[in-house]
Amino acid sequence: MDMHLSKSNLSPLPLSLEGPLDLVSYDTYYDNKFVSVHHKNTCNCNLPIKRCLRFYQRYVILGRTFHSLSYNKRGSSNSYVVQYSSTSLVNDICFGEVIIFYQDQFNSYALVKQYSIKCLFSDYFKPSKYYKTICEPIDAFFFILVPAETYICLPVKNILKHCVVFQNDNCKSVIVTPISSYDEHD
Ligand SMILES: [Zn+2]
Repeated sequence: MDMHLSKSNLSPLPLSLEGPLDLVSYDTYYDNKFVSVHHKNTCNCNLPIKRCLRFYQRYVILGRTFHSLSYNKRGSSNSYVVQYSSTSLVNDICFGEVIIFYQDQFNSYALVKQYSIKCLFSDYFKPSKYYKTICEPIDAFFFILVPAETYICLPVKNILKHCVVFQNDNCKSVIVTPISSYDEHD
């Protein structure tokens, strides 16, 4: 999966090519309560929401294409799962899945379903005699997460990386690892 995601980025677009792709032609997302409340609280347009917001299935950030769940050509990849930086806490690493991207008159956002951390990956290795040696490095790269019923309207500039996702615990949780370096896979 890591290779698959990385291959999709083998030929990164020029850095100057930033922005949304694949305009959504249907109205579904205007009724989303998180989007409508966020628009009301943050946008100074004084326009009805349908005149202001435009929704998109994909978005190019720093030359890399990120998908949303609404992008139906994404195949088997989980490229809608992203690592992002918190809007409130410095250096806080967060994960979630992008439902949809959107723009108002001034800014670009992603509606993200947030994941919460369930436990440390190293917890699985507690019986091992190597536990103390391996816990720090593996906890830096692997995260055991559960999808939460919480959503955030995230500025797209906070999106950092694609992630590779493995199902865990009969799908009750997922193991997520951010793509460590795009270049090393090229
Ligand atoms: Zn607006």
